[in-house]
Amino acid sequence: MGVYNFSAGPSVFFPEVLEQIRDQLIDYRGSGCSLLETSHRSPHYDAVHTRALTLLRELYHVPNNYSILFCTGGATQQFAMLVDNFLSQGGTALYVTTGAWGKKALEDAQVRSNAYPHARIIEQYCSDQFVSLPPSHVFKTVTDVKKKQGGNDTVYAHITSNETIHGVQYQAYPSSPVPLIADCSSDLLSRPINFEHLAMIYGGAQKNIGPAGVTVVIIHNALLEKASEVLPPAYSYKSFAKKKSLYNTPPVFAIWCLQLTLEHIKKKGGLSYISDHNAHKARLVYTVIDAFPDMYRCPAVPECRSNMNIVFTLPDATRDAMFLEQARSKGFIGLRGHRSVGGIRASLYNAMSIEGATALAEFMKEFARTYG
Ligand code: PMP
Repeated sequence: MGVYNFSAGPSVFFPEVLEQIRDQLIDYRGSGCSLLETSHRSPHYDAVHTRALTLLRELYHVPNNYSILFCTGGATQQFAMLVDNFLSQGGTALYVTTGAWGKKALEDAQVRSNAYPHARIIEQYCSDQFVSLPPSHVFKTVTDVKKKQGGNDTVYAHITSNETIHGVQYQAYPSSPVPLIADCSSDLLSRPINFEHLAMIYGGAQKNIGPAGVTVVIIHNALLEKASEVLPPAYSYKSFAKKKSLYNTPPVFAIWCLQLTLEHIKKKGGLSYISDHNAHKARLVYTVIDAFPDMYRCPAVPECRSNMNIVFTLPDATRDAMFLEQARSKGFIGLRGHRSVGGIRASLYNAMSIEGATALAEFMKEFARTYG
């Protein structure tokens, strides 16, 4: 049975890309063997690796003074690597937490900072109930915080671009007087972004641009310059940049799938197409939520609603369960809300079709009319 997969991640792939992977898996470009059996130092793999980097730069309009790295260990490893790279010699990092993932980034950074006596991790702002984003003055006061702490040693401020569990997304990035780092795990390449506001972004590929296994890091060279020189290479941004992310064996399969996904996005019209497509799908579902307020409630305040993860609840747990069961029987999968918040979550990443979002919206209307 064909299904519509609304899973939060790993998540739906473009069917055309899955077909390409299937067709090319056994005999890669007539080489007689699979890319999975090929050295990461071979010309075949080198072409994939270089092309994936080129496509990322082109599609995202990454300025030339930023470096693009392929790391492993997911965004979770970045939570610790940020501290290793930027705070090991001392300094302060400010965290703005707007959901469960921002909290996790903060907590992991705190744990990591225990290894460095002069590193300080400060939670600058925590949004109430994780339903909204900070007012812009929170970022303007970053400088005051530096003064209050008695020094000018703030190295970076950290935000979560899209909160996957709470369904809250920055519509535009704030301007910050200190380098701003964004965890873009769940909205990577889902819309164009203005790198002027961002010193670094990072995120795993497994929601919008490929499979789990590769983590994309895009970093301004001025920030990269400040990274530690004394880390083991596997933890050092400088080493990833210097060795073109080939110090050791990269996740070749994931990078190949990422390359094919980016080729597909380019063919479709790039990020302006993708962001319109994503906004359209989200509108279809939010319109139904707003049209049936007795049945559906979206905790996120309207200006902060995510186009990627639509989080909502029904009036009681019985109807949540009924909704999920009926959805499943009609081929809508992956809709259960995260176990920490319950309710329903529809993830509408890049590869979810308009047809899938429309079918879900129709199902929601029908359900509300029947059980409201
Ligand atoms: N940040 C966000 C916003 C996420 O959604 C996730 C994964 N769901 C992570 C970080 C952790 O990513 P990973 O599992 O790739 O380490």
